[in-house]
Order: sequence, then C-alpha cells, then structure tokens
Amino acid sequence: MTSHKIYVLPGDGIGPEVMQPAVAVMHKAAASAGVTLEVSEGLVGGVAIDATGTPLPAQTLAAAQASDAVLLGGVGGPKWDHLSMDQRPEKGLLGLRQGLGLFANLRPALLFAPLAEASSLKPELVVDLDILIIRELTGGIYFGEPRGVESRNNERVGFNTLVYAEHEIARIAKVGFELAQKRNGRLCSVDKANVLEVSQLWREVVSDGHKNFADVELSHMYVDNAAMQLVRAPKQFDVIVTGNMFGDILSDVAAMLTGSLGMLPSASLAASGLGLYEPVHGTAPDIAGQNKANPLATILSVAMLFRYSLDIPEAADAIESAVARVLDMGYRTPDIAGADKTLVGTVEMGELVMAQL
Ligand code: NAD
Repeated sequence: MTSHKIYVLPGDGIGPEVMQPAVAVMHKAAASAGVTLEVSEGLVGGVAIDATGTPLPAQTLAAAQASDAVLLGGVGGPKWDHLSMDQRPEKGLLGLRQGLGLFANLRPALLFAPLAEASSLKPELVVDLDILIIRELTGGIYFGEPRGVESRNNERVGFNTLVYAEHEIARIAKVGFELAQKRNGRLCSVDKANVLEVSQLWREVVSDGHKNFADVELSHMYVDNAAMQLVRAPKQFDVIVTGNMFGDILSDVAAMLTGSLGMLPSASLAASGLGLYEPVHGTAPDIAGQNKANPLATILSVAMLFRYSLDIPEAADAIESAVARVLDMGYRTPDIAGADKTLVGTVEMGELVMAQL
C-alpha cells in the first residue's frame, strides 16, 4: 500500500478548529482511495513563539521538508502584534515558503452553484465558474534588487526592480501547461508586454515552452485587460499563469468572484512536487474558539493536496462533491448563511462533509 507523509500545522486562532475536520476528511478520503497517510503535527506561528520563542522552529522546517505535503491552518493574532517584524508569526509562514522552495501559488476560483448569490457579480456570470490562477511566488518585483528609498536631487526616491530570469519563467509556465492539461486544456499567460521588456521576455519564454505542450491552447493577455475580463466574463478562462505582482492582484479579484473568504483553498508547490496547502483566509481572531469558523476552505485545501501532491484526483473530486452536496442540502456556517438556510457550526459542518464522503 502506498504511504504518504503529511505534516499538519494547525497554527493560531481558528487554525486548530478548521484543521480538525479537515484532517478527519483527509483520513477518510485516503482510506477510500486505498492509500496510507503518515500524519504528524508541528508548531508554526504564534503557538510556536509561545512554546519555543521562534515562529519557525528548526524542527518544524526539517519535518516539513521531509514530507510529501504540508497542511497549514493559519498564523498570527493580536497576542503577537506587538513583536518586531522579524519575530512575528507571519515570519514563520514566510520562512516556511522560502525553506520549502515554493515557487508556484495555485488559487482556484470555484463557485458552488448554491452560493452564486454571494458573488458581487450577476449569478449568470459566475454559476459553475471554475478557474485556476497560478502566481509565480519567489521572483519578480517583490524580490528584485536593487530596491530602496534614497535621496536624489534633494528629494526622496523610491525604487524596486521587476526582474525575471528565463529559468524562472520557464518553470512556472511548465506548471501552467501541465495543470491546463489536467483541466480543460486552455492556458492564458498574463503580462504587460506592450510596456515592459521583462514581460516581452516572459511572453517569448512561455511561447517557447508551448512547443512541448501542443495539446494546450495558449493565449496571451495584457494584465489590464485580464483584470477587466475577470469581472466582465470570468468563465472564458481555464488556467491563468502570471508573475508575482500581477498574480497577487488578480487572484484576489478572482477570489471575490466566488464571494466568501471561508470557501477559498490554496496550494503552493515546489519543484520537488512537495506542496503547502492552506486556506486563503487568516486566523479570524474575532470568531476563534466559538465554533463559528467555516472549515470548507481548509477541507477544499485537502482536496487540492490529493490532486496536486498525491496525484489522486478521484479523492479530490470526492471531497469537492461532498462539499457541494452539503451546500445543496442548505447547510451554512454563519459567514455564508442566507435566508431559509440551516445554520451550523464548524464541528457540524465537518461532520456533514464526512457523512457525504
Ligand atoms: P482573516 O482572514 O483572519 O479575517 C477576515 C474576516 O473574515 C474576519 O471577519 C473573519 O472572522 C472572517 N473569516 C476569515 N476566515 C473565516 C472562516 N474560515 N470562517 C468564517 N469567517 C472567516 O483576516 P484578518 O482579520 O485581516 O487577519 C487576522 C489574523 O490572521 C492576522 O493576525 C493576520 O496577520 C493573520 N493572517 C494570516 C494569514 C495566513 O496565515 N495565511 C493570512 C491572512 C491573515
């Protein structure tokens, strides 16, 4: 029987609450798929600061590096807000991303039909929406050198550098082509090649990569148009691949098409195939410990873990279908509640998904 190592980091705030049902779902889906999971748990973020004095203990990073996949709740909260920038819980997450070499961030925007009214767009524009945004995560303007603020001609000047090397573009494009192959076969590369030289190189390298993926339909779009198209006719897209800053912005636009933070999963992948899976939302200190948090974003992150790190798409499909059925039956946590719906808590929502799995 195949066995996979999964490292679980519940983190802070609602993290442990949403993690509990997600781990239960993970075990059940694995059993149905006939695979064994070796699951261990560690500390990151505020709970790690409290226990060890650092947001990312060396033991946590080593255990994460030795796993097939990491499942994370969230880090941070008011208790640690007074700490200096490099001692804060968020530093633990950044260190984890860096230490694992996670260069591709995957953010699906999947709209479950019963939640169509939660979108800011007209229901007919978003019903059955299923797009995937792939953002390059370790390069581009957020990391480029030189950077800084300095004095020039008696005034302060701020500057950053948007830089991409060919190999960085080629490897994120490859992720885009491969995932488009597994989905509906269409990849849209988003850039600003009408203005930026780095985008012209981006476009050339992505087009070169296309030669190895003849079965994928490749298109290119300027980022301003992509932003417009995402709110005009989002269903035209299948997979979007783009750089760090454009992806940061477009993935949040796409997220809001589906209406609710409590429903959004994400994945970040390394070249080795190792992945970090986490809900898009934070630790929601305002509702922590009240059995009010929506666990579905974390449960859907588990579905991504099966799809992208363990390569068991049937298990991913089964989890997503179970979630869809529970929503169809009218069950809602408070964040997605509507008229005539049955309000449930975190624990009950988890049990409902388990029953449908
Ligand atoms: P947040 O996502 O935690 O919360 C924003 C709002 O959405 C809150 O009203 C919250 O109650 C609600 N919400 C979030 N997730 C929910 C869920 N699953 N179910 C129901 N409601 C949910 O963002 P914030 O308030 O800006 O940040 C709170 C803390 O989380 C901060 O310390 C921040 O640094 C941290 N944070 C961590 C991550 C991460 O670990 N990846 C991401 C974002 C924020």
